[in-house]
Amino acid sequence: MVYLDYVAGCPVDRRVIDEMLKYFEHPGNPSSVHSKGFEARKIIDDARSKVAELINASPSEIVFTSGATESNNLAIIGYAMRNKRKGNHIVVSAIEHISVINSAKFLQKNGFDVSYAPVDRHGKLKIDELEKLIKKDTILVSIQHANPEIGTIQNIQEIREVVECALHVDATASLGKIEVDVEKMGVDLLTISSNDIYGPRGVGGLYIRSGVRVNPIIIGGGQENGLRGGTENVAGIAGFGKASEITKREWKDESERMEKLRDRLLNGLLKIEETYLNGHPTERLPNNASVRFSYIEGESILLSMDMENIQASTGSACTSKTLQPSHVLMAIGLKHEEAHGSVVFSLGRWSSQQDIDYVLEKLPPIVERLRMMSPLYVKKKKGGE
Ligand code: PMP
Repeated sequence: MVYLDYVAGCPVDRRVIDEMLKYFEHPGNPSSVHSKGFEARKIIDDARSKVAELINASPSEIVFTSGATESNNLAIIGYAMRNKRKGNHIVVSAIEHISVINSAKFLQKNGFDVSYAPVDRHGKLKIDELEKLIKKDTILVSIQHANPEIGTIQNIQEIREVVECALHVDATASLGKIEVDVEKMGVDLLTISSNDIYGPRGVGGLYIRSGVRVNPIIIGGGQENGLRGGTENVAGIAGFGKASEITKREWKDESERMEKLRDRLLNGLLKIEETYLNGHPTERLPNNASVRFSYIEGESILLSMDMENIQASTGSACTSKTLQPSHVLMAIGLKHEEAHGSVVFSLGRWSSQQDIDYVLEKLPPIVERLRMMSPLYVKKKKGGE
């Protein structure tokens, strides 16, 4: 199997599983006032320190959630609700993950005013346009660090310079691939997810800078400093902690290795006629190769590749059921038919050169075969002859 869909889901690292196994049988509730409760509390506190260290935060600035979607909801809805007396306008970029876009739409239905900041054809935020959108009553700007579909990385430090209000950054796709340092970036809120760094699913985190206030969106018994009710997922959080510890140690070497493989893959793919790169040519995630093949459908390519045991994706798995062209590819100005021919290959910890060479052997004949079935391609060929 050649798995190149790490952006949709990562296997959990064996070292993380071993750590978690220690805690599945532990009965303690971190809120209990007895020794088992204290032990469970310590497991969570240790994990919180490791997660905080990975992004250069203080442990008290980390809230554990059920994943990046919840973190984005908490950051955007929680911040807006808490700070609405300061203003009712928020700005998000046009290529945010659907959990950010839909949180913004939820606020819009509840009396907030929302603006969408445009990006250029490479997916880079137009910072001058963002600056124009910011008004006196803008309370929050939300911009992702890197886009999982096209790989483009935003310069958060430059964005921070024009954003005086609170700045939320979704770092789900960038954590473990490039440097994520909340101090250097100057962010107020930052979303992270466990599975994207080979931890378990169903766990994530939100960094909330000390002094920044948000309302909880899950109301319960006051866990997570009153910001996220419900008994903590102790084993899952311990796994996120272990995954963070490994990532802190290994991410630089891993990214260098992935970048070389990614370049090998891209060089090979772009030799196929009428195949083009999506996203920024250089300022892109080291594990992301997003390309579009003219005249054919991404879904047909995926199914044909799957028959050869290769897994990739056409965009965000989170919105793949809608059959709409990806809002990200539309925002960078692709035509519908160009967006539909896009495929994202995302590499990870266990990707190898053999994987890449296998794709480069199997894919060109697939593209050729599908094009022979494409009326548009056949017409073009005939016209050219
Ligand atoms: N933000 C980004 C940038 C993502 O790529 C994803 C999906 N992995 C999410 C948020 C949502 O993550 P989840 O589905 O794990 O909640």
